[in-house]
Amino acid sequence: MIPYGRQSINDDDIQAVVDVLKSDWLTQGPAVERFESVVADYCRADHAVAVNSATSALHIACLAADLGPGDRLWTSPNTFVASANCALYCGATVDFVDIDPRTYNMSVTRLEEKLERAARDGKLPKVVIPVHFAGQSCDMESIASLAKRYGFIVIEDASHAIGGRYKGEPVGNCRYSAMTVFSFHPVKIITTGEGGMALTNNAEVHEKLVRLRSHGITRDPAKMTEEPHGPWYYQQIELGYNYRMTDIQAALGVSQMSRLDEFVTRRHSLAKRYDEALQGLPITLPWQHSHAYSAFHLYVIRLDSVRTQKNHREIHESLRAGGIQANLHYIPVHTQPFYRRMGFKDGDFPEAEHYYAESISLPLYPTMTEQQQNNVIAMLHGALS
Ligand SMILES: *Cc1c(COP(=O)(O)O)cnc(C)c1O
Repeated sequence: MIPYGRQSINDDDIQAVVDVLKSDWLTQGPAVERFESVVADYCRADHAVAVNSATSALHIACLAADLGPGDRLWTSPNTFVASANCALYCGATVDFVDIDPRTYNMSVTRLEEKLERAARDGKLPKVVIPVHFAGQSCDMESIASLAKRYGFIVIEDASHAIGGRYKGEPVGNCRYSAMTVFSFHPVKIITTGEGGMALTNNAEVHEKLVRLRSHGITRDPAKMTEEPHGPWYYQQIELGYNYRMTDIQAALGVSQMSRLDEFVTRRHSLAKRYDEALQGLPITLPWQHSHAYSAFHLYVIRLDSVRTQKNHREIHESLRAGGIQANLHYIPVHTQPFYRRMGFKDGDFPEAEHYYAESISLPLYPTMTEQQQNNVIAMLHGALS
């Protein structure tokens, strides 16, 4: 089977993990600090906080933005459920902004219209989470200017996008947002097994993220209600979690970071080969905005329903029969039963629904060979002719 995505682990990655296993620290320790500083430096952000998943990072990012009951969070319907669930963890409500038909990212036009209506109705969101779908940055400059006009906080869900750039600068630098979140799940660009990170340029937000990652506990006397009783002393000053990353994971992360550019370059060259080999088929290839250098987490094609009778299910089935595990990103979040129970329904976000009915994520990962890719290309030509 050729999967749609998979990790690349080399001997250096393995040695880095083994070294930690032989050291004094297994849980959060020096390797986590090193990983945070390597990622912050790469992204040119001031602070980074490593946690055990992007889901956890989204949760504490929302809490650090003071999202709570009575507040609203908006995100894209074309994302993994975690980008929306984080609002509900905080007791806030979720709504969605339909996608752009070319990038499949949150549409800035739809966002602006929805904000105008919300401002009239007194229902503006506190937080907006744009998702850099497939690794291609959203139009952050426009989103940041709307954030300024309407007073919401931007948290970038960059789970697909480490190693990508926007207007020549690394995704994650938080120039246009309060915080940026990465995922290190094995199908993503680099991996720590499970893991995530939140980046910010704000020292206070950083301090809050660090505290929320570990039970809401502080060891900073300036934050305490009384003098420390002794060197053992700490205080819990708010409700936090155990969202810590282990040093075992972080060591893998540091090692993977040294391969990040190579991974993204390889993804680009495979994407270019797809672009060339799939010309002429009744499909739409991934459109790239000139402001973005994608991390190419996904290579998504869209069936042209005018030029082919085949639907995406038939194509998926013929690929699978040929040993190719294509996938589909994403089932629009608002159509999940859990979200339907909140009142969302078909037709609410037509562009995302239309996209879902026609799209396929083809296999794309750095260790994919050209032979394997030729196989996918040939199968696809067969299935579509
Ligand atoms: C993978 C993913 C997440 C969740 O990441 P985890 O590290 O698995 O928690 C969140 N948002 C998006 C867009 C993702 O692709």
